[in-house]
Amino acid sequence: MNTVLISGAGIAGPALAYWLRHHGLTPTVVERAPAPRPGGQAVDLRGTARDVARRMGVLDQVRAAHTGARGMAFVNAAGKRTSTMASDTLGDSGGAVAELEILREDLVRILHEATTTGVEYVFGDGITSLTQTGSGVEVTFERGAPRTFDLVVGADGLHSKVRSLAFGPESRFARDLGAYIAIFGTGRREDLGGWQLMHTVPGRTAGLYPTPDGGAKGMFVFASPPVEHDRRDTAWQRELVATAFADGGWEVPRLLDDLRTAPDFYFDRLRQIRMDAWSDGRIALLGDAAFCASPMAGNGTSMALVGAYVLAGELATAPDHVTAYRRYEEVMRAYVTKCQDFALSGARGLLPRSRGFIRMRDIALRVVPHLPGGARMFGDLQKLANMVSLKDYRSPSLTSS
Ligand SMILES: Cc1cc2nc3c(=O)[nH]c(=O)nc-3n(C[C@H](O)[C@H](O)[C@H](O)COP(=O)(O)OP(=O)(O)OC[C@H]3O[C@@H](n4cnc5c(N)ncnc54)[C@H](O)[C@@H]3O)c2cc1C
Repeated sequence: MNTVLISGAGIAGPALAYWLRHHGLTPTVVERAPAPRPGGQAVDLRGTARDVARRMGVLDQVRAAHTGARGMAFVNAAGKRTSTMASDTLGDSGGAVAELEILREDLVRILHEATTTGVEYVFGDGITSLTQTGSGVEVTFERGAPRTFDLVVGADGLHSKVRSLAFGPESRFARDLGAYIAIFGTGRREDLGGWQLMHTVPGRTAGLYPTPDGGAKGMFVFASPPVEHDRRDTAWQRELVATAFADGGWEVPRLLDDLRTAPDFYFDRLRQIRMDAWSDGRIALLGDAAFCASPMAGNGTSMALVGAYVLAGELATAPDHVTAYRRYEEVMRAYVTKCQDFALSGARGLLPRSRGFIRMRDIALRVVPHLPGGARMFGDLQKLANMVSLKDYRSPSLTSS
């Protein structure tokens, strides 16, 4: 058990490569994009995930790239704040916006830079077939020559190719959350003062997030049945969003102008991936590929980092990969399930059915955090973020050297 092929150089892939290399194994990362992929909104590092970043030696870089977010506020159509939640209201990891927030693309860059030595990266390629034999996995690629690895890990996101090749079509594992999300860059917005602003009407939320360079990202989330389309057709996707928000108040018209021209446009269906098992023989899944919670839950990145640490540690210390995969799942399963359940309530908060629900949500946000036991009523995200205790994995190869 030495060579490991990882599909995907997002968050989970490079983090796993880091820890495998740390334990003396030989990781190769294949990424479909020609370089680490930019784009996406702010992601939160919560609880134990910060400890993983600290152990990787990248926590200072992550802190330096902090978005500067100070909290989240809901605003009405006139832009008046109706409720607010500061980043430290429910502990450093317990609020809607965690105290440590970073743009996804900055985290991807930091993790890639931390793994450029000792990890083979193959950009602009992807796996086309996986054949398990008694001693390894034979892999064919879109461009490169076939190769054989001891193990393969799919860290290739929500629409994982490894999952579809080794476990079955996405539809078997996807839990649809009934909505689409779009995220894109806007112009300069120093006026946000570090606050994320959200404007909700029944079935729709528009948002603005500050970025570290004084700019901002816009976000649209809206309830809709799935609509058949070509996933690469971004013109069609932008039009779908614009139609859904055509009558929007607040800053929506200005945001729609940005949406039409933004080069860093991210669009996807909100869905979770729920699987009974994250491995099959020598092939395992990690991050969104295994347990996507939804792109607006705030836990996907933390789960990916913690999962990478655990999976690599178990692979380095278990007698065989079957035991390692089983232990990885034992450590991660309850944490993942709770994060996914939490994400369902987050989705309901951004896609409320009625104006009455929006009023109740605003009252709850104003009052509940200050009540005794208030954190529990918000799902106790702080406790959830710290649910996994990191073991100190000492691989035989390292202890003997
Ligand atoms: C462009 C982009 C924008 C995102 N924006 C947000 C966001 O705004 N908010 C949020 O919470 N989450 C976002 N996500 C998801 C978020 O990054 C993940 O929830 C989380 O960080 C877990 O990371 P991951 O590494 O498992 O998956 P991801 O970060 O999705 O990384 C998966 C990687 O696999 C690559 N890949 C996909 N298919 C293949 C293939 N066939 N072969 C090889 N490589 C492949 C992708 O290009 C990507 O680099 C975004 C993901 C992407 C790719």
